[in-house]
Amino acid sequence: MSAPLPVTPDDIRAAEARLRGRVRLTPMRADPRLPGVLLKQEYRQETGAFKLRGATNAILSLPPDQLRRGVVTASTGNHGRALAYAARAAGARAVVCLSHLVPANKVQAVRDLGAELRITGQSQDEAMIEVARAVREEGLTEVPPFDHPAVVAGQGTLGLEILAQCPAPSAVLIPLSGGGLAAGVAAAIRARSPATRLIGVTMERGAAMAASLAAGHPVTVEEMPTLADSLGGGIGLDNRVTFAMCRALLDEVILVAEPEIAAAMRHIHAVTGDAVEGAAAVGIAAILAGRLRPGPATVCILSGANVAPETFARILQGQPA
Ligand SMILES: *Cc1c(COP(=O)(O)O)cnc(C)c1O
Repeated sequence: MSAPLPVTPDDIRAAEARLRGRVRLTPMRADPRLPGVLLKQEYRQETGAFKLRGATNAILSLPPDQLRRGVVTASTGNHGRALAYAARAAGARAVVCLSHLVPANKVQAVRDLGAELRITGQSQDEAMIEVARAVREEGLTEVPPFDHPAVVAGQGTLGLEILAQCPAPSAVLIPLSGGGLAAGVAAAIRARSPATRLIGVTMERGAAMAASLAAGHPVTVEEMPTLADSLGGGIGLDNRVTFAMCRALLDEVILVAEPEIAAAMRHIHAVTGDAVEGAAAVGIAAILAGRLRPGPATVCILSGANVAPETFARILQGQPA
């Protein structure tokens, strides 16, 4: 027997109860152009991405004294937004530390959600130093974007929601970065639908979890610009939760190229009328590129919608990625 995983189906059911009424139930619909493919439209979640599930569960799992002092993160992407929103909903303080390099529109988005901003230094690493200081000296609690049991359990509620809409999927395609989404969804689905193939999908350019799974331990990879910017970044060389879970639960990892991601964004727009971000389109990219033949019920998780309008317009016009 292998060691028990750090997040269990019971943890995910407990998260589901905590999240009830606090996150949206998002639609699932058939893709009329791809027989057998079901689109899980999680980009319609509050704050535009599934990250609200993990952030809300992490905040609501805190002991009252820690909740009173507040939470901190250095993310200005979907996790930072989600944490700011979830903290405000719980009546808690959220501090977001960012560097002077973060563009003004991102800064404003986090501020609009009621978070307290600390602008410091010239890099993400320097913002992380401020996070550590706030934890040490002010007693704030860091809520990381993926490598945390309560975050993973929260993301896993998306897996339970998928099974309520499609009880025995042939496969589920999960956008993969740090692996919080994949670990949680895979744990939820494996427990109730063991025959479902669980597939992580990520971009060829800078896929840290894919490289780590291939190496058998967490490794760093060079970060490169990609249309799937929400999938960038490392998994942490001291990864505690998501690496082991992805290794135990994912049947396969598929990599997709930039033009394939762009084509999938256009496809999803043609079918739903919605603009999704590159990270959300990787599952459809894998299918359109012929890297995976869909079975009778292949669920693609469309994970987020936070794409800059100018980027999306450029992709719709078919300009090179
Ligand atoms: C964070 C994110 C992912 C990847 O989630 P991980 O838990 O880091 O693997 C995928 N899509 C979107 C839109 C995201 O914001």
